[in-house]
Amino acid sequence: MAEKKKIIIIGGGFAGVKCAKTLRDKLKKDDADVILFNSENYMVFQPLLAEVVGASISPEPVAVPLRQMLPGVYCRTEDVVNINLDNKSVEYFSGDGHKGQMYFDHLVIASGSAVNLGQIPGMADHAFPLKTVGDAVALRYHVMEQLENAEICDDPELRKWYLSFVIVGGGFSGVEVAGEINDLVHDTHKFYRNIKHDEITVTLIHSRDQILPEVSSKLRDFARKKMEEAGINVVLNRRVSYVTQEGVGFEGNTTVDGATIVCTVGNTTAPVINRLEVPKERGRIITEPDMRVSGYDNIWAIGDCANIINDYDKNPSPPTGQFAERQGRQAAQNIVRVLKGDETKPFGFKPLGQLCAIGGHNAVAEFLGVHISGFIAWFLWRSVYLFKLPTFSHKVKVGFDWAWEIFYSRDLAHPKSDETERISKAHFQPGDYVFRQGDPSTNFYIIEAGEVEVVRETDKNSEETILAILGPGDFFGEIALLDNRNRTSSIRARSNLEVTIIGKKVFEQISGTLRPFRQFLADAVQRRSGSMWQKLPIVYSILRREPLSVFLKRVEIKLDPADSFEYAVKTISEKELDFCCVIDEANKLKGVLTRTDIFRAVESATEPHTKVSEFMNNEPIMVTVDDSSPIVAATMRDHNLKWVPVVDNIDNMYVKGYVRRDEMINYVLNELHGKEDESL
Ligand SMILES: Cc1cc2nc3c(=O)[nH]c(=O)nc-3n(C[C@H](O)[C@H](O)[C@H](O)COP(=O)(O)OP(=O)(O)OC[C@H]3O[C@@H](n4cnc5c(N)ncnc54)[C@H](O)[C@@H]3O)c2cc1C
Repeated sequence: MAEKKKIIIIGGGFAGVKCAKTLRDKLKKDDADVILFNSENYMVFQPLLAEVVGASISPEPVAVPLRQMLPGVYCRTEDVVNINLDNKSVEYFSGDGHKGQMYFDHLVIASGSAVNLGQIPGMADHAFPLKTVGDAVALRYHVMEQLENAEICDDPELRKWYLSFVIVGGGFSGVEVAGEINDLVHDTHKFYRNIKHDEITVTLIHSRDQILPEVSSKLRDFARKKMEEAGINVVLNRRVSYVTQEGVGFEGNTTVDGATIVCTVGNTTAPVINRLEVPKERGRIITEPDMRVSGYDNIWAIGDCANIINDYDKNPSPPTGQFAERQGRQAAQNIVRVLKGDETKPFGFKPLGQLCAIGGHNAVAEFLGVHISGFIAWFLWRSVYLFKLPTFSHKVKVGFDWAWEIFYSRDLAHPKSDETERISKAHFQPGDYVFRQGDPSTNFYIIEAGEVEVVRETDKNSEETILAILGPGDFFGEIALLDNRNRTSSIRARSNLEVTIIGKKVFEQISGTLRPFRQFLADAVQRRSGSMWQKLPIVYSILRREPLSVFLKRVEIKLDPADSFEYAVKTISEKELDFCCVIDEANKLKGVLTRTDIFRAVESATEPHTKVSEFMNNEPIMVTVDDSSPIVAATMRDHNLKWVPVVDNIDNMYVKGYVRRDEMINYVLNELHGKEDESL
């Protein structure tokens, strides 16, 4: 090996670390530089993350510092953002915020997998993932916070909700975290005066007919039985279709409620891999048998981000630490072979077995063909992972934590880091409450999509009046925040709802420093304080008598979303319309088009053949046939609308017609006039 080579590894997980270590062992310093890029300066020992959640071990031992583990390897805590296959270089974001570029002779891609919570509506907003040390710590503190909330809660229903924990996904990580949370809450509830054993529910939801698809059916059955005996509710053959603040929902609108949702499903590959144009199988890079990326001599892919056929059984390698580590070692050996001019070898590995802790000092294990379950398997599980931890000091730390747990209870402190409030998003299903009348005020909300109704409970029998309907672009929650009092009304979603949430502190900072925003809020408070009907009681009594059908007009002229701009202009101008509903073939409302929308489209030089769907207002305020006439009148007033479309309900969006403001006004005036005549 004449000239010094540069070998770059992207990712410091199981695969990347093993590869770097083996390369450093096999190659002299003068032969090659080994450079390892990783987003953090430590490797995450993911198999022990569930133990961190359950407070069985402290978080530090699962984060193993790369520098100390890999002497002789140039470790760089940076994100690789681009891989240029043709000019053999990687681009990275350096610590000071600048982009840098580095050339390589060999590149090993070992960037693992990433969490994708975006596949299920609401999951990203309301569920906890479990991938990083930060995830595990946040989840552990959240669980402890729920115990504290339950302890001081007088409402039995709410207390049960605080004490309900829902885990989505019955693979290894889902089963382990369900077992750990169950152990944590049941072992420690004795320290809480008001929490009863039977108020706690831990639910594990899995979409197939058995949990742990990776192990034999006998062990799976054992695992499920033991978990059920420990009080875990195992729900099989159900696929979560949405998540809200209240809990998870399935098709058909059945739900499992809980204040804690953990998501262990939905893996994807890192963004740098998504951008890479190489053959992939379900996002994972397809490799040759020796782990080289198909078509390249010097690019290798290993670990969870790669689709590698195991020469031992000709099956694709599973995404596990065990395989990632073996691939790391064998890829390094192949690189050394290439550098020496020798033949590479295909990846081949006979799996040693499977181990999974299921809580309550139980585990299931398949080890060298032998099936073991119960306490012995659990002991084996702990011994294996203690042995697998990469450094001696980390073995001691974990061993100490485990020994501590034998003599003392799990630690219930959840130190608050007082992190700065952030702006977040949330998803709600139709009928969900964003908050209820009387709740303390903590946030300000802006609607991104969907509609809400402002509901006031008028007496002790909880009779309710709908005060207003709010839609995209509207906001709520400001009155209670500005006046520092509890919520004066409830907010309920009328449709699938997406909101941006601004915490109290951030809200106060913005409203305190930004004068136009302050003025805007003051106007809104003025407009909203007190129902308009308090000032117009006669008008209210007239409108309340009449169902909305009295004012409902049929849509005579409509546009289709696929109609052209040219056709829309012609229709609106020839028929002298000030608006037109855009309705599809199934009679569903897709949007509305006003003259203002047309002018805007003209200003932006819209082509004559552009489809109506591209420039219409596709999130119009709408009401339903079941809404009362006063609420429809108030909605038009609040949004300064001359008319509003009426649909069957917000979910199906079947068009029933529209209501015009001037016709309502005329009706009221006629009635008032009639009353004056009668009184004469
Ligand atoms: C909760 C949980 C429990 C598990 N339990 C087990 C178990 O019991 N047994 C088992 O065998 N397996 C288990 N696994 C799976 C196992 O952890 C993974 O298969 C293994 O970590 C994969 O190793 P890897 O090196 O491919 O990726 P990872 O270990 O995920 O490492 C990838 C690294 O690359 C870094 N990275 C990504 N993109 C970039 C970039 N662009 N620039 C720089 N760095 C980047 C990441 O930050 C990360 O550090 C578990 C996984 C989880 C989440």
